[in-house]
Amino acid sequence: MARKTALVIAAAALVAAMFGSALAADTLADVKKKGVLVAGVKDSTPPFGSVDPNTKEYVGYDVDFIRAIAKKAGVKAEFQPVTSANRMPMLQEGRVDILAATMTKTPERAKQIDFSYTYFLTGQKFLTKVGTVKSLKDLEGKAIGTAKGSTSEQNVAKAVPSAKILSFDDYPQAVLALIQGKVIAVTTDESILAGQLGKLEKNPASKGKFEIPDVQISEEPYGLGMRKGDTNWVKFVNDTILEMEKSGEAKKLFDKYFAPDGDNPMKRGTFKITADERGIK
Ligand code: GLU
Repeated sequence: MARKTALVIAAAALVAAMFGSALAADTLADVKKKGVLVAGVKDSTPPFGSVDPNTKEYVGYDVDFIRAIAKKAGVKAEFQPVTSANRMPMLQEGRVDILAATMTKTPERAKQIDFSYTYFLTGQKFLTKVGTVKSLKDLEGKAIGTAKGSTSEQNVAKAVPSAKILSFDDYPQAVLALIQGKVIAVTTDESILAGQLGKLEKNPASKGKFEIPDVQISEEPYGLGMRKGDTNWVKFVNDTILEMEKSGEAKKLFDKYFAPDGDNPMKRGTFKITADERGIK
């Protein structure tokens, strides 16, 4: 009897689990029902995700992609700040519907979540005081700052095994350690470093003192993150990205944040990705 009861309970649990995941797997329907798309974005990583100090609104390349997807779905966009370390749990726990958070598509991450088509392509470099780093040799045995839970953390450990890696919650904290001389470099995607360099350039105390040497250790294709097996949602997001590409909206967005003639650190010539290389795959 007890065994039979146990079996019935197990079967019921299985059905509930299947139902649960089937329900959870239609984020597109959920979003339309709620009338709002909740996206996990960075809040201190310009030009991808940051909060405008005047309007208090989220702004950036990642943020604009979400606004475009929300518009296509006919719903409002809402933003939740995420860090490199907590973004996947935030998605998997259902606290956000999608991640647009400078996130590199990797095979390990793709075992846990689904990614959209690549919507941005960059590579990992270093932010340093001017003249201190010319090659990876200059980093050997030194302290280097980066963010917890990032690919940057893993790549630098492989590229410079003798370095002491200090992992912070976000990149501005790593930059603070660089300013204070606690690390010789901050390492992450060049596109993120350029945003941090832009902030340093705006401050008279740090203007002209920092640079991004031409030392690259990886390629980082960004994808929007969604829950595993959320097929309708992934298709909707991918279709929207392709439409934005065809209509020229994606190029407009790219030019808005990365055009060489804008008020943007990318004009410093360290950023090599052209519009054609954004890598829609
Ligand atoms: N793109 C890299 C990553 O996904 C570094 C940037 C970040 O920490 O978000 O880990």
